[in-house]
Amino acid sequence: MASVPNIRLNNGVEIPQLGFGVFLVEPDECVEAVTNALEVGYRHIDTAEMYGNEKEVGEAIRRSGLDRSEVFVTSKLNNNKHGRDDALKAFDQTLEDLGLDFLDLFLVHWPLPDIDVDYVDTWKAMEEIYASGRCRAIGVSNFHEHHLHRLFEATETKPAVNQIEISPYLTQDPLRAFNKEHEIEVEAWSPIARGKVNDDPAIKQVAESVGRTPAQVTLRWHVQRGDIVFPKSIKRERMEENFAIFDFELDESAMAALSGLDRGERTGPNPDDFNWMP
Ligand code: NDP
Repeated sequence: MASVPNIRLNNGVEIPQLGFGVFLVEPDECVEAVTNALEVGYRHIDTAEMYGNEKEVGEAIRRSGLDRSEVFVTSKLNNNKHGRDDALKAFDQTLEDLGLDFLDLFLVHWPLPDIDVDYVDTWKAMEEIYASGRCRAIGVSNFHEHHLHRLFEATETKPAVNQIEISPYLTQDPLRAFNKEHEIEVEAWSPIARGKVNDDPAIKQVAESVGRTPAQVTLRWHVQRGDIVFPKSIKRERMEENFAIFDFELDESAMAALSGLDRGERTGPNPDDFNWMP
């Protein structure tokens, strides 16, 4: 099986372009799911304090027997932990829950427009965390251009990644281009639109033309656009299916067929309206 390429972040750290996401993986199924994913070959796990399964992710990594350096681990700052002191404490707690002494990537999960604490202050705490050497890279999630502009104006460190919702139904091309122009790598969450691509006639047609499944051609579309993806599945056969995307290519017309499905449709909230707290 072809191997997963790495993408080099703006500070030189390398991240596997395909990972495994654990949003909505219940704690009691998470050790098994991550164990299966690591056996299948995934070496990049995307979790968050909000997902409630950091302990189980850490447990599965330890049980795998893999060296810590072989698995890229991302987690995210929860919405109720913005602000300097809470962010620093939350990072310590995340490391403790994962049972790790460093994290590969730590993200501000949401910018939260209406809360009292400014995400710019939170980002300054992220810079402190990075400077402590216990996190190899820091980034953001769900940041629009206007959020990023404020970070550029008020802080020193550019995010290494921006993790945003992207699928054939929400191609996000202007925001992707803005990120790339500023050397911020793009991570695509809900890359297969939570499974919706499986029933899409246009995607099915592309899938049939290359002898693959709709999920595979959609993930391949992301990868050929240069984005980082981490589809979630609790089913081992789907983990295998989603992993097998590096031994075929989509031609220009297939790429255009998927990009042409853009209709600005989100599966999740728009970050400008989202202020949810745990
Ligand atoms: P995905 O687009 O990865 O879709 C997951 C859904 O699709 C699940 O219901 C899964 O079901 C199903 N599925 C998986 N593989 C296949 C397949 N090959 N064929 C058909 N159905 C399939 O959605 P997610 O929302 O989970 O996004 C992926 C990751 O992105 C998350 O796990 C998380 O790490 C991250 N994320 C980040 C957010 C953020 O705000 N930063 C927000 C949301 C997600 P089953 O498990 O039963 O196989």
